[in-house]
Amino acid sequence: CSAAGCLSSEGEAVKKNLTTAIAEAGLGDKVEVCGVGCMKFCGRGPLVAVDDRNQLYEFVTPEQVGDIVKKLQEPDAIPETGLISGDPHHPFYALQRNIVLENSGQIDPESIDEYIALGGYEQLYKAIYEMTPEKVITEVQKSGLRGRGGGGYPTGLKWATVAKMPGQQKYVICNADEGDPGAFMDRSVLESDPHRILEGMAIAAYAVGANHGYIYVRAEYPLAIQRLQKAIQQAKRYGLMGTQIFDSPIDFKVEIRVGAGAFVCGEETALIASVEGKRGTPRPRPPYPAQSGLWASPTLINNVETYANVVPIIREGGDWYGAIGTEKSKGTKVFALTGKVENAGLIEVPMGTTVRQVVEEMGGGVPDGGQVKAVQTGGPSGGCIPADKLDTPIEYDTLLALGTMMGSGGMIVMDETTNMVDVAQFYMDFCKSESCGKCIPCRAGTVQLYDLLTRFLEGEATQTDLVKLENLCYMVKETSLCGLGMSAPNPVISTLRYFKHEYEALLKV
Ligand code: SF4
Repeated sequence: CSAAGCLSSEGEAVKKNLTTAIAEAGLGDKVEVCGVGCMKFCGRGPLVAVDDRNQLYEFVTPEQVGDIVKKLQEPDAIPETGLISGDPHHPFYALQRNIVLENSGQIDPESIDEYIALGGYEQLYKAIYEMTPEKVITEVQKSGLRGRGGGGYPTGLKWATVAKMPGQQKYVICNADEGDPGAFMDRSVLESDPHRILEGMAIAAYAVGANHGYIYVRAEYPLAIQRLQKAIQQAKRYGLMGTQIFDSPIDFKVEIRVGAGAFVCGEETALIASVEGKRGTPRPRPPYPAQSGLWASPTLINNVETYANVVPIIREGGDWYGAIGTEKSKGTKVFALTGKVENAGLIEVPMGTTVRQVVEEMGGGVPDGGQVKAVQTGGPSGGCIPADKLDTPIEYDTLLALGTMMGSGGMIVMDETTNMVDVAQFYMDFCKSESCGKCIPCRAGTVQLYDLLTRFLEGEATQTDLVKLENLCYMVKETSLCGLGMSAPNPVISTLRYFKHEYEALLKV
């Protein structure tokens, strides 16, 4: 695995030693060592898969590669160094349905040829030569795909709105400013399958009549940036990007804009301001970016995972995609499963899968027989699902009804040792630091909420503080300018809803 998780734990040295060991064993003509994208079981990296043997090795160290080579030579050999051979049919994998991640862990993300060998760029060709822009939008509408960045706005409707807008100059933007604590889905997709995003953006551009795209990606993702840059260069060389794509009259070029680390730049109007070279602060909407976005032109903004769904929708048809998932939440969703869970990593499941299936069956539950206390979704804008609600199916609306949200896909498991007031304070600290300061309710409100939560944790809070905390949450929520402030109180509201006794237990007597 050559994604950031495994590379950060000596994955590169594993690959180097493995290549050398295979050559020394005289297997160079039979065995090829390939770096591929994320193999998903991030908590057990570095990972090595032996494809035609259906074997997966976990926690591989550079010193253990000899065992893998020995197993290649003598399949019955017993590893000497304690190397663990994982089960590729493990529930962590078996319950996944990979649509977004179908190429992840399968191809070298730095090779356009490997992407093309798996049918890459065929859907762009199909869209340009066999479909009208209206037909492309119809398929996306039929799929029922909703924005995977957290809002859940119908993607086809957004595309249709931009397509209908007058004007010669339109833009498409990929929002890759993934900033939720614990979330790494978009990073993995960019690192593992960058051409998929470029192809999805090019199809979107054709559909809405844009010829220029930007990928706004955070500076903290250097590997994703490097692979995107390489992918753009390769696509240009192959005539798939730039002028006259596939020798058609269609032009489309993409540029990368590197964000400077502000969480608020994930908000679309702040992101647009940042791409324009201004300070990244939100502005009131309307007008929406679809009407007046980048340099006042109609602009389509979708996040990484949304674009990653476009190619399979065009390939298999909107009806195919719409048959997956539930009535109001179609397709699959990628989650970064982390926290107090046995099997941490990247999972993609059909909408409607229950939280319990993800956390207990795929995730293996809390290590050492611990109990799940809550599952946090939606990052600093979301909330906590208590243990007695784990049978809730994962859908946009069911999660909202529980007081949390789908968000971009962070899913953090908490066990019975977790102090929920502490959790609320952690997220408030994050929002306080990331507030851009433009509007008073968020700028001052997040500081006051943080201070109140601190009073609880320090045993100084009174009943009056509890009332103040609740009132202030709703004031900040209802009067802030953008989504950051509007949703900043959610972790407090959610923990008050399900774990109020923990707040009360901290009151000064
Ligand atoms: Fe800035 Fe917060 Fe106001 Fe949004 S809600 S504009 S982040 S101060």
